[in-house]
Amino acid sequence: MKVAIIGTGYVGLPTGVGLAELGHNVVCIDREESKITPLKEGKITLFEEGLEELFQKNRQSGRLQFTMNMKEGVESADLVIIAVGTPPHPVTKEADMKYIHAAATELADYLTGYTVIATKSTVPVGTGDDIETLISKKNPKADFDVVSLPEFLREGFAVHDFFHPDRIVVGANTERAKEAIKELYKPFRGKTNMLFVKRRSSETIKYASNAFLALKIHYINEMANFCEKAGADIYEVAKGMGADSRIGDKFLNPGPGYGGSCFPKDTNAMAFMGRMNGVTMNLIECAINGNDQRKKDMAKRIMDAVKDIKKPRLAVLGLAFKGGTDDCRESPAIQILEPLVEDKVQITAFDPKAMDNAKKIFGNKIAYAKDEYEAAKGADVLVILTEWNRFKKLDLEKLGKLMQHKRIVDLRNAVRPEDAEKAGFSYEGIGVCRSESK
Ligand code: NAD
Repeated sequence: MKVAIIGTGYVGLPTGVGLAELGHNVVCIDREESKITPLKEGKITLFEEGLEELFQKNRQSGRLQFTMNMKEGVESADLVIIAVGTPPHPVTKEADMKYIHAAATELADYLTGYTVIATKSTVPVGTGDDIETLISKKNPKADFDVVSLPEFLREGFAVHDFFHPDRIVVGANTERAKEAIKELYKPFRGKTNMLFVKRRSSETIKYASNAFLALKIHYINEMANFCEKAGADIYEVAKGMGADSRIGDKFLNPGPGYGGSCFPKDTNAMAFMGRMNGVTMNLIECAINGNDQRKKDMAKRIMDAVKDIKKPRLAVLGLAFKGGTDDCRESPAIQILEPLVEDKVQITAFDPKAMDNAKKIFGNKIAYAKDEYEAAKGADVLVILTEWNRFKKLDLEKLGKLMQHKRIVDLRNAVRPEDAEKAGFSYEGIGVCRSESK
């Protein structure tokens, strides 16, 4: 099929690369020159494991192209996928639809023949209807259907998730639109659960899923707080809970609170949609507020670990919102470190992939190190904020020699407490017992 994808971000680019790998002819469109120019030149614009190789392969084969020109991408497409951002509105926190509306309006003039418009962006219920109206008004002769095709990929596993989705949800109101999506994912036939539902159900499934996952994270974080006070171990508790198939063992990892470009914005958008529909979303509101509070609690936990030191120096490991990505949007690191930066605490940070994005957020308010050991030089406490695998293999003896005080606050439980203590560190993790400062 000929596919146009509008938006080449964390969803659009892996989707474009994946669809080209399945054999489709894909044109990726973005209005940011800073994205399209490097992509055209063969330079990848974001980090995802395994993406670059497939990007190069499909670009060289000619099946994957890039343009800033909407007409060029859309006019010959059988299917147009919208993958632009739906960020939170600064005041109401509802999903801001300006990029979706702009994309729908821009593409309308270039539709030729029957075309399916599929939204992969996470959009409020009823958006499919709005897109239909916008396009019909701008181009009354256009022959098209609008489908909701929500994206469930996890950043850090985008390539894996593209080729091995748990399910593909299709919100289509016509038979010919359903056929087009079946054709798009033909290679997955018989291997992947494809759910055909009403368009409004599909739009709701995405928010309902993300909000549920956010609740699960918030729940295990509350349990971790309880374990710390009650002398229980959160991992033993999570293991015991997860062994129950009704609960499942995924998403029971305690941490500094959820972040990223999806959970914070999607829980807020879901709560807003609830209010608009006269439905109280107590659980979701509770997770939103509890998760915000958690970041403040984590900042306090870090400062408590150095309360005996006049001008503490922090070595921070990890700035991305999770391991496996360079994405810092709504990273817990931001909310946790910002009050410390305001208090003029000296911070030297290192992240294996997210340094460029972090610099756009923190600028020169913090210092940046080339690796974990440079960050640790002269530090009073080592703070782990992102669960990169390499932080599980730190040379603690070496770190200890570089630091002023041997203290670790590990908000991802990356280091084994017994290893830290063996190397002479005082160690504080999440949901496990705390040891005294040294
Ligand atoms: P992103 O900000 O990384 O990318 C969006 C891209 O769209 C940007 O490059 C922007 O320049 C481009 N764009 C905006 N308006 C445009 C227009 N009119 N024409 C051409 N290009 C335009 O966003 P993202 O993280 O890829 O998320 C996109 C959508 O997918 C959001 O709705 C998000 O909620 C949803 N989603 C994201 C993830 C994720 O893990 N990031 C997962 C599932 C769903």
